[in-house]
Amino acid sequence: MNIVLLAAPGAGKGTQAQKLTAEFGLAHISTGDLLRAAIAAGSSLGLEAKGYMDAGQLVPDDLVLSLLKERLGSDDVQNGFILDGYPRNTAQAVTLDAVLRDVDKNLDAALLVAVDPAIIVDRLSRRRACKECGFTGIDTMRACPRCGGEMYQRDDDKPDTIGARLDTYATKTAPLIEYFKGQDKLVEVDGQGDPDEVYVRVKEALGL
Ligand code: ADP
Repeated sequence: MNIVLLAAPGAGKGTQAQKLTAEFGLAHISTGDLLRAAIAAGSSLGLEAKGYMDAGQLVPDDLVLSLLKERLGSDDVQNGFILDGYPRNTAQAVTLDAVLRDVDKNLDAALLVAVDPAIIVDRLSRRRACKECGFTGIDTMRACPRCGGEMYQRDDDKPDTIGARLDTYATKTAPLIEYFKGQDKLVEVDGQGDPDEVYVRVKEALGL
């Protein structure tokens, strides 16, 4: 099964993707994680991307696409994947259709995890990520529950950037809801509540 996860920042995309990956062995492709890895590696692409990310803007399409294409070539993608954070604008959605067609793959569903924006700001300010494996947790976790790595607050989860990211979502990414509706691929779940409760809804909605 090949799925796109569509949701505002902090709506719990990453968490739901981690759960689906663990249970169904799907490859988790997070363009945010790929970009953060490029930054950590000190590559020129990472350096260029960082400024956009810290400002809450989208990184230019060509930079993200080159990371995505490389990742889609990995072996683990062959059993299905969850695309977390891509596409994020209509141009990327059109590109994705073409890229998948080239490798004879198809999207089964675009999963929209819907959450009230007021809840999102609170979630993002409390969010922490693992420096080692990218696991997403909250501010009460001292060490990563998955690998024991150090938890930190992403630069773009600081209050100044959160508003810009939500604006970017509303103007650039939310129009994709209509795009995927038009392809008859949109599946919507209520993202409010405990992550495990949301996960039950996600599986039901995807028929898993
Ligand atoms: P969140 O969904 O919580 O904002 P992500 O890790 O998905 O977190 O993304 C973090 C940042 O990485 C985004 O604000 C954006 O700057 C950049 N980014 C991630 N995916 C893309 C993409 N597909 N296109 C452009 N920029 C991206």
